[in-house]
Amino acid sequence: MTHSSLSRRFTSRFVAGPRLDDGIRVLSQLSNERIWGTLDFLGENVTSLEEASQSKESYIAALAAIERVRLPATVSIKLSQFGLDFSEEACLNNVVALAAYAQAMNSRVEIDMESSAYTDRTLNLVARLQECFAGHLRAVIQAYLHRSEADIQRLNELKIPVRLCKGAYDEPPEVAFSEKAEVDRNYVRLMKLLFDEGTYPAIASHDESIVRQARDYVKARQLSPDRFEFQMLYGIRRDLQRSLVADGYRLRLYVPYGDAWYPYFMRRLAERPANVLFLAKNVLRG
Ligand SMILES: Cc1cc2nc3c(=O)[nH]c(=O)nc-3n(C[C@H](O)[C@H](O)[C@H](O)COP(=O)(O)OP(=O)(O)OC[C@H]3O[C@@H](n4cnc5c(N)ncnc54)[C@H](O)[C@@H]3O)c2cc1C
Repeated sequence: MTHSSLSRRFTSRFVAGPRLDDGIRVLSQLSNERIWGTLDFLGENVTSLEEASQSKESYIAALAAIERVRLPATVSIKLSQFGLDFSEEACLNNVVALAAYAQAMNSRVEIDMESSAYTDRTLNLVARLQECFAGHLRAVIQAYLHRSEADIQRLNELKIPVRLCKGAYDEPPEVAFSEKAEVDRNYVRLMKLLFDEGTYPAIASHDESIVRQARDYVKARQLSPDRFEFQMLYGIRRDLQRSLVADGYRLRLYVPYGDAWYPYFMRRLAERPANVLFLAKNVLRG
């Protein structure tokens, strides 16, 4: 199913296409609209260290392509794709190779956050990488986790830039807020902490209220627009994306490409049940 032309029709709203060229094409189009990108080579939870090494090679190819076309883009990776489930040292070595490439071309590796089973290991690995690759990394914090304030304080002290998102995994109430209102409240609290004490934060949300509160806060604090960026997912809330750029804010879109779209796509559907209806209509119309 992941390779069929039917699936291509309904994933194209969120995924650039199966190949690296598709990702680069989308990044170039976005760049014409003054939007930056971060490329995500789809794939998570690889089943061997050999596959993890192939993921690393695919990401190095992605950075090389970004360098060739001179785009202000970064890459976003998942540590489970780089072998974390098999060996922390092998995973670290894979990420070091990629971060060294990013550092040489003055780009950045953004390390996505997966389910809470990975949070400690991911943040510890980012902290180790910061010793050699400061300025070329970004960590991700999920506002739905109870622990996130302490994690942000640690990352702020280490001067590691943070992408703040709400969180996309199904977590139990012991570790995460379950009500949307609680997650939103925590998001705004953490966002202010990042604006006040963080290093070049990324506000990753399509929530209009959160975007508005971010804009109000930076205005009140007179933070200049080059001290932070907004981030959104490719294909979601293009209206909001355009209005941010028109108002002079930095915006980076998360652009996935590759065949292994299934888990990414299912998280996007789960976030918004109306997407299922939208896709069904499009498939029937097609
Ligand atoms: C750049 C970026 C990187 C991310 N990285 C991670 C990560 O590393 N780890 C992680 O757990 N999560 C990540 N996420 C996902 C994030 O955690 C949320 O699941 C997702 O962004 C939806 O939350 P929201 O802030 O947009 O708010 P919501 O309250 O979920 O949505 C607000 C509004 O946005 C629109 N919207 C949101 N989602 C969709 C959708 N799927 N389809 C259509 N419209 C939608 C709707 O209009 C909705 O009303 C990332 C998100 C972004 C933008």
